[in-house]
Amino acid sequence: MHRKNDLRPMDNAMKVAVIGAGTMGSGIAQVAAQAGHPVMLFDTRSGAVDRALVGLRKTLDRLVEKGKFTEDLANGIQGRITSARELKELAGCGLVIEAIIEDLGIKKELFADLETLVAADAILATNTSSLSVTAIAGACKAPERVIGLHFFNPAPIMPLVEVVPSIATTSDIVKNAMALMKAWGRSAVQCKDTPGFIVNRVARPFYGEALRICEEGIANMATIDHAMRSIGGFKMGPFELMDLIGNDINFAVTKSVFEAFFYDPRYQPSITQQRQVESGRLGRKTGRGYYDHAENAERVPPSEDPQLLTMIHERILAMLVNEAAEALRLNIASRDDLDLAMTKGVNYPKGLLRWADEIGISECLSRLERLQAEYGEDRYRPSPLLRRMAREKRTFY
Ligand code: NAD
Repeated sequence: MHRKNDLRPMDNAMKVAVIGAGTMGSGIAQVAAQAGHPVMLFDTRSGAVDRALVGLRKTLDRLVEKGKFTEDLANGIQGRITSARELKELAGCGLVIEAIIEDLGIKKELFADLETLVAADAILATNTSSLSVTAIAGACKAPERVIGLHFFNPAPIMPLVEVVPSIATTSDIVKNAMALMKAWGRSAVQCKDTPGFIVNRVARPFYGEALRICEEGIANMATIDHAMRSIGGFKMGPFELMDLIGNDINFAVTKSVFEAFFYDPRYQPSITQQRQVESGRLGRKTGRGYYDHAENAERVPPSEDPQLLTMIHERILAMLVNEAAEALRLNIASRDDLDLAMTKGVNYPKGLLRWADEIGISECLSRLERLQAEYGEDRYRPSPLLRRMAREKRTFY
């Protein structure tokens, strides 16, 4: 069992291990080395670590060229990351961050092995996006030192880390993990081990409701994107963002959240998006998604009808606010962490709960009630928290 005094100091002398040298692992290794820790990177795929180190050198060289890093700083970061050829070389690490393939069986096997290798006071973290941290920790005899540290892609640029205790994680481990992420310059938020954590749960209606509006023929994609950018101040509209993320990835996240919530209709995936995936129209990475990304491709112009744009924006935003209110009601995270997560993890222009206050809780509620009356679907059920707050004339802040 871990008592407070058992925890080793998490200063930058502490060795950090990163397992999996793919997209996330290499970024996380850079972040840890940038914070001053010696880092060991391990991957089972031959050449993966070497490729990650070559990639890192290129990234650092670019940053030096742009004047963002000094050569000394870049060399220091690179010099602190070494490759481990075997898992057992990670034995002296105080924190292990796993960023391997998203497969529960394989992750559990790794955690069971890790537990026998590292010291009793080492923390074992997973970067999983969609699996339960509790299920991964279930492979360990001491699940109390397992925690989720969910970084966003690209890890060195996106500041958010969702810190996710399993149901067995001790509060000291949570406190230490939060403090360490803050010491690494991250925006750390704490959230309950529930599907999608904060961001991948609360952001679902941004895509789902946009797809519904489009499927119903209320507006085309360009108009929906335009409404969210021009009125909402979002950097990208839902369809542009899905094309950037990749429709395969976005659809997989939606499906996994839907299934993990035992098929709650609020998270129902869209057949329109499924067809995109089936046809290989994955987005920018295949040159075609909802939009044609060829250089001279013609774009359908968006409508400029102010009433239509307002209606789209109000509908999607009301659904986002509802989702954030539900997450608060169910104690998934605090008010401040919910708002911080959406601004730092997906660049929303404002936290959704603060936004709800600005719109007015009663107005948010009536938008949802109108949608529910019109469609008769459970998807639009307003959060009981919004009802209560409207009745009591309360605000989130
Ligand atoms: P990736 O495919 O780019 O990299 C995974 C790496 O893990 C590969 O190099 C693979 O060889 C290695 N690997 C697989 N099994 C291994 C094992 N048993 N031991 C050691 N190495 C092993 O994947 P990724 O996109 O970096 O995702 C990694 C994890 O991070 C997943 O859990 C994913 O859900 C999560 N995540 C991904 C993103 C994202 O946007 N890509 C964002 C947040 C979290």
